[in-house]
Parts: sequence; C-alpha cells; structure tokens
Amino acid sequence: MVTIFADRMENTRKSFIREILKVTQQPEIISFAGGLPNSALFPAEELAAAAAKVMSEDAANVLQYSTTEGYLPLREFIARRYLEKNGLEISPSEILITNGSQQSLDLIAKVFLNKGDNVVIEIPGYLGAIQSFSIFEPEFLEVPLLDDGIDIDILDKTLSESDAKLFYTVPTFQNPSGITYSQEKRVGAARILEKHRVVCVEDNAYGELRFAGEDVPTIRNYLENTILMGSFSKIIAPGLRLGWICANSPIMEKLLIAKQAADLHSNYLSQRIICQYLMDNDIDEHILKIKDAYGSRRDYMVDMMARYFPEGISYTKPEGGMFVWVTLPEGVSSMDLFDLAIKENVAFVPGSPFYTTEGAGDNTLRLNFSNSDPDEIEEGIRRLAVCMKKLTS
Ligand code: PMP
Repeated sequence: MVTIFADRMENTRKSFIREILKVTQQPEIISFAGGLPNSALFPAEELAAAAAKVMSEDAANVLQYSTTEGYLPLREFIARRYLEKNGLEISPSEILITNGSQQSLDLIAKVFLNKGDNVVIEIPGYLGAIQSFSIFEPEFLEVPLLDDGIDIDILDKTLSESDAKLFYTVPTFQNPSGITYSQEKRVGAARILEKHRVVCVEDNAYGELRFAGEDVPTIRNYLENTILMGSFSKIIAPGLRLGWICANSPIMEKLLIAKQAADLHSNYLSQRIICQYLMDNDIDEHILKIKDAYGSRRDYMVDMMARYFPEGISYTKPEGGMFVWVTLPEGVSSMDLFDLAIKENVAFVPGSPFYTTEGAGDNTLRLNFSNSDPDEIEEGIRRLAVCMKKLTS
C-alpha cells in the first residue's frame, strides 16, 4: 500500500501501555497497570512556593528563551549530587537538561543510530526505550535478565557476534521487572562492554528509590564510556518533564546539536522551579517519604501475593522502584489473564510488550505498587489470584 508516512513509522509500535491505560482509568478499576508515581507525594505546596518565587523575582528571565545545555545552577546541583551519592566526578558541562529522560532516549538514539545498527537491550526491557529507539530502525539484540542482572555470558556472546554500538540498561529497580544488577554483574557488564568497545546507556530513573538492601555503584562507576541518564520524574514530579543526560564531551557535542534541533532547550520555567525547590527544601527528606510509602506498599503487595496467589506463580521482590514482575507457569498467557482480570475490574500490564520478539514473555506480567492504597492492593491481588486459579487449574 502506498503511504505518505515515513518508513520509520512502519516499525514503531503504538505504546501498548498507553492503550491499556485508556481502559484502566475508569474509577471502578483497581489498576496495577500504570507506571505512575504516587501523586499524593508530589511536593505541591513547595513547588507552588518555588514557582511563585521565580515568577515574582525573575519573570523577565524565566519566561525568556534560554541555553540549550540547561540552567547552570541546576546542572551544578546534579553534579554535586553525583559526587556525594555516587562518588562520580562529573562536570556540569557534561550534563544536558532534557525534557524528561524519555527525550534523553530520543536524543541518544538520534545521535548514534543509523538504520540497521545493532542495539543491545535487556529482555524484558523498558518499553519506552524500545519505542524511542525503534523510530531510528535499529536491529534489537536481546540479552535476558537473570535475578541478579544481565546474563553476562550471553552479553559477551552477543557482542562478539555483532558490531553493536549501544547497550541500553536500567540496572537499578528496572522497569518492568524490578530487578537490580548485583555489584558483580555491574563490574562484569562493564568489563564486557569495555572489551567490545560498546557504549553503555545507563538509565537510572529509579536509582534514588531504594527502600531495602544496600546501595550499589552505578555502571558508570566502573565504565567511563557510559552515558548516564537521570530524571526528576520519580523524585519530584513527572509533569514538570525534566531529566538529564551525563556524557563525555565528544558525545555531549553531538547531543547538544540534536537537542537544539529538537526543541532549542528544555522548559526553562520548569528548570527554574525545580532548581528553586531544590535550594529551598531538603530533597533527601522528601525522597525518604517516597521510599517509606513505596516500601510499605511493596511489602504489602508481596505479602498479599504470598497469601492469595496459587502455587507455581513466581515474582520478584524489588528493593526499590515501583514494579513487581510476575511469572506464570509456562504456557499460561498473561493476555488471557488480563481478559479475565479486567472483567473483575483489575488491571496490570501483560509482559509480552516488554519483549521485542513476537510471542515472547507471554507468561509474564508487570504490577505497579506505587500508586495503589493498601486496601486496593489486597482486593486487587485477591481478585487477580481468583483469575489465576481459573486459568491454571
Ligand atoms: N526510563 C525508564 C526506565 C522509565 O521507567 C521512564 C518512565 N516510565 C522513563 C525513562 C521516562 O521518564 P521521564 O521521561 O519522565 O523522565
């Protein structure tokens, strides 16, 4: 069929999650489907005060065009935090403020990927990255995640047999699986990537949200050739749409060109509001509140799963982030489970969209725990368990 649309749109799927969310937004549905931070925890008053302050004190500037790199004091804050929290020495000039880390993915893909280039991804993997990269028509090479991170042997083999340019990873509290790479896996992955001279794209959207276990260094701590991505979405508020990319200067030069072409610069008012908020408030105190709330919800969800789920269903117990990953017995389809569950007014995201191979991951699913209250969690998990029993018995 003749089409007026560009070839690149042919292979880019509509986000299945967005489609599901349309169904699940009805008020009677208990939804574990979204990936939303809990809005009760947004620092609304403090952000309102910050917004009022920058507008009353500096409206002529905050409403004006600004620099492509982003507001320097904000980049300085991020750089200081990397030093304090991660022991990373990153110069503000190596940081680009983006319109959320989703834009970071687009810019990185734009700068690196020609049609047909190989990109190594985790399976299951973050759907938004797969979609973002797909626009540039790469070949995805999948490497499975194990309980403690990427399968190092398969990563090595995959990189030996290809000329991949990028390895995209969410090594901490991954979306969708909740899995976190152990320190050994981080070191191991860094070594393999170094050996094959492959750039690591480390998406650390959830890294600050650890409510159990010990902190682990970033992959960037072990591999200089890493592009590190961060976001304010999960620690402040996603609606302000601010994230960032850290990259060395040859890469940053290209990213800046791509950023300029895309939108000149990120929303400057948002940058100023967030920066003012960070100056006037203790972000660690705020993050602690989020971690407490999410940690207790995770505990509750996992307890309810242990109580209600039938035999043969396994699930991750993430030490942070927002998601639990469930594996049904082989041959049991989470799409079928979704059809049953939605009739019971419970929603989740079936796992197959998180795989790039058609049909893979059909017995897996993602549950979000950050955005439901405990009574909803119990009732939702109980109903889900009834549906599971129907399918597995
Ligand atoms: N990366 C990962 C792993 C995510 O889960 C998300 C949001 N769901 C994003 C990036 C995009 O986040 P944002 O654009 O709000 O920073």
